[in-house]
Amino acid sequence: MRTIASHFLKPILLILLSLFPMVSAFGEEVWVYSSRKEHLIKPLFDQYKMETGVSVRYVTDKAPPLMARIKAEGRNTRADLFMTVDAGNLWQAGNMGILQPITSPILDKNVPSHLRDSEGRWAGLSIRARAIVYSTKRVAPSELKSYESLADDKWKGRLCLRTSKKVYNQSLVAVMMEHLGAEKTEETISAWVKNLATPVFSNDTKLMEAILAGQCDVGIVNTYYFGRLQKEQPDLPLAIFWPNQADRGVHVNISGAGVTRYGKHPQAAQKLLEWLSSPSAQSTFASLNMEYPVNPAVKKSKEVAAWGEFKADVINVDVAGRNQARAIMLMDRAKYH
Ligand code: FE
Repeated sequence: MRTIASHFLKPILLILLSLFPMVSAFGEEVWVYSSRKEHLIKPLFDQYKMETGVSVRYVTDKAPPLMARIKAEGRNTRADLFMTVDAGNLWQAGNMGILQPITSPILDKNVPSHLRDSEGRWAGLSIRARAIVYSTKRVAPSELKSYESLADDKWKGRLCLRTSKKVYNQSLVAVMMEHLGAEKTEETISAWVKNLATPVFSNDTKLMEAILAGQCDVGIVNTYYFGRLQKEQPDLPLAIFWPNQADRGVHVNISGAGVTRYGKHPQAAQKLLEWLSSPSAQSTFASLNMEYPVNPAVKKSKEVAAWGEFKADVINVDVAGRNQARAIMLMDRAKYH
C-alpha cells in the first residue's frame, strides 16, 4: 500500500512544488526610493510587472532627502532599492552605510567595471556625458579643445557655467583633480570664473538659453538637457563639442542604483537591479531621458546617436565621490559659487 501511495503522491507533490514559485510570486513587491522622476521610471516598472509579476512600488524625492530618510528609517525602512543620478550621490549613499554590497555576475557582465562600485554597493544604469555646448553662430568647433582650454583668455566674457552647488559640477571637478592634480585644477577653475559672462545658473537649460540670448558663447552641460532643447527647437543654433579627445576623453557620469542595507526584499531588489541592466530594459531606460545605455550590447537611440561618437573618460566614476569634499573646497577657493 505504502509503495502505491508514494507512487501516486510523488508526482502530485512535484507538481505542487513546481507551482509554488508562481503562487509565491503572486503579490510579490519591491520598494524603490528614487530621485529619478516618475515619468522616467514608471514605464520600466510597468514593464517589469508585465514580465515578472512583481510590483514595483516607489517614492520619489531629491537625492539628499531620500538618503537622509533611508538612514533615519534604519531597520524600519521600506526601501529595497535606492535609485539616483550621479556617482557622487551613489558614492555618498555607500559611504553613509545605507547600501549593501552584492555579488552579481549579471551586473558584472552588463555594466562596465568603471561604472560600478568595486565593493558591489551600486551600479550604473545609464550614462550621461557632461560636454561643451557652443553657439554655432559665434564659435567654430576648431576653436574648442578641452575643459581646461575654456580657461584661455579668448573666452573672457564668453563663458557661462551652472552653479558649483550642483553635484554634476562637483563630480566634473573631482575627476579633473584626479587627472590634473589639485594645483592645475584650481588654476583652471579660477580662470573659468574670470572668464564668466554672467553669474552662474541654477540649471543647464538656463545656461543654454543664455547662449541663445547672446549673453555668452560657450558652456558645460549634460547632453540630455541639450537633447530636450533640441527636441523643442530642431534648428537650435547650438551644438555639442566633445572635449579632451586627444587625452583622457569626455567626462561621463551615471544614473544608477544600489540594494539598501535594511530593505525587506534584498533578493527582489537585486533581481530588479539586474533586470534594469539587461538588454530588455536598457534601451528604454536610456532613451526615456536621452542618455546612453550602460550595457555596451545595447544600441543608443537615434537622436542620441546623432550627436556623434566620442571618446569617454574611463576612470572609475567613484572618484567623483572620493574627491567630492576636496572638489567643493577647491571650487570655493577659486570663487566658483
Ligand atoms: Fe539632470
